Amino acid sequence: MTRSCSALGCTARDNGHSRERGISFHQFPVDAAQRREWIRAVNRVDPRSRQAWSPGPGAILCSRHFAEADFERYGLRRKLRRGAVPSRFPRPQTQTGISEFLAQC
Ligand SMILES: [Zn+2]
Repeated sequence: MTRSCSALGCTARDNGHSRERGISFHQFPVDAAQRREWIRAVNRVDPRSRQAWSPGPGAILCSRHFAEADFERYGLRRKLRRGAVPSRFPRPQTQTGISEFLAQC
């Protein structure tokens, strides 16, 4: 199964095409405090329960939600820094915000 980015309005899928474009995918942290930071940053509400959305076991975010400084580079590979929190999201609930965001990549 192809996983896709958990950010609202983000269409990135974890497949070869995305990876060729330099998008990497990152699992939600196991550390509870950091995980909460990510959930807060994603700022999603579960439409059924109307509670804060919580990531499932395979939930991922794509690299577009992280600042360049959140990565450590090893040649062609890069790795998310320990403690990095995603910070780049489209403005919530507005289609324009989302298309502007997607146009940046
Ligand atoms: Zn994404």
